[in-house]
Amino acid sequence: MSKSLETELVNIGNKKIEGDIYPEASAIYQTSSFVLKDLDELYQKYDDEDFTYSRLSNPNRSQLGDVMSFLEKGNRSLIFSSGMGAITTALFTVLKSGDHAICNSKLYGETTILLKEILNEYGIESDFIDFDNTEEVRNKIKPNTKLLYTEIISNPLTSVVDIIQIVKLAKEHNLRVIVDNTFTTPFLISPLEYGVDIVINSLTKSLNGHFDVTAGSLTMKNEDLFKRAEKLLVLFGAILDPNSAWLTLRGIRTANLRIEKQNQNAIKIAQALSEHPKVTKVFHPSLLSHPQHDLAKRILAEGNFGAIVSFEIDDSYEVMNSLIKNFKLIKYANTLGGYKTTVSHPCSSSHYGVEDAERRKVGIHNGILRISCGIENAKDLIDDLTQAIDCL
Ligand SMILES: *Cc1c(COP(=O)(O)O)cnc(C)c1O
Repeated sequence: MSKSLETELVNIGNKKIEGDIYPEASAIYQTSSFVLKDLDELYQKYDDEDFTYSRLSNPNRSQLGDVMSFLEKGNRSLIFSSGMGAITTALFTVLKSGDHAICNSKLYGETTILLKEILNEYGIESDFIDFDNTEEVRNKIKPNTKLLYTEIISNPLTSVVDIIQIVKLAKEHNLRVIVDNTFTTPFLISPLEYGVDIVINSLTKSLNGHFDVTAGSLTMKNEDLFKRAEKLLVLFGAILDPNSAWLTLRGIRTANLRIEKQNQNAIKIAQALSEHPKVTKVFHPSLLSHPQHDLAKRILAEGNFGAIVSFEIDDSYEVMNSLIKNFKLIKYANTLGGYKTTVSHPCSSSHYGVEDAERRKVGIHNGILRISCGIENAKDLIDDLTQAIDCL
């Protein structure tokens, strides 16, 4: 019997680990190691990839990994102590000294710093260009290029990448493609189905969704890539602890319901903001004025355009600070994807540390605020946004 996503999501990842007891919610295997009968059993467990020592594998991580493989339509997943742990490992999986990577210039800030400042010191070169233009990506390909790296919806101005074209280009030149799916989540798009090699998720954001865990994952189909990534996870040691893996799995069980509501709220909020006379610009792919509205409709799950809406008011730190103070319901926090609506100020968080001139080149200045839509009632959120803007 084939089951639908919402049925499968509440049932998978609960495989029986030991003995006769079978708890409805999995136990938390808060242990560093596992007692074995003898050396024969140890070698059997190595062969079976069974549990011996928690840095190598642990039941709570492996259950969460099974759920991520299901959601991302991959064969294998690895679970990390943060999204950045997953990103670092993914990059070391496909790149070595002398290699060149082409990355989207609109990537998550710390991914950019990792590539430009750290991997560069290990002889890995990278170019950063706008993936909105596939021809420009093609022009940057060199004999030592090994990787194209992108997100699908950019932070904070929500431009959308045509992943079909990017993968096509990669296949023509025998390059790997890595996608960070944190903003879009596997409920909006399945990058592996388009031919992407590795998908990253920061589980800290919408997938856990409860503001109480920092975690990340990699999912892939190719077994050789998996083996290399697994080796690096074990050697670097950026593993998620059992308790956080358990909490994340609990969060993911209801992620589809939250993400659906967050996406619906985002569409309503984007519309309401675009009708407000003091708002000069709204960034959300649901709007007909968004340059990649049609592309978003084509590649994202029907009726979904992401749960992030950004808008522009006055290009002023003081005005933005007053606006943040005016909110009664909405909270200011440097995160996204949680069940509650939060706002962040890109100039002071994701793009803090980027020079003003550089920020302006990609359209980011003091007057931009990013909303991560939660699951509250849409009208309550719109009322709060409206009163806060009206008071300015
Ligand atoms: C938050 C975020 C990350 C990093 O995740 P952590 O769990 O904070 O390490 C990576 N990519 C994107 C797109 C993010 O939003």
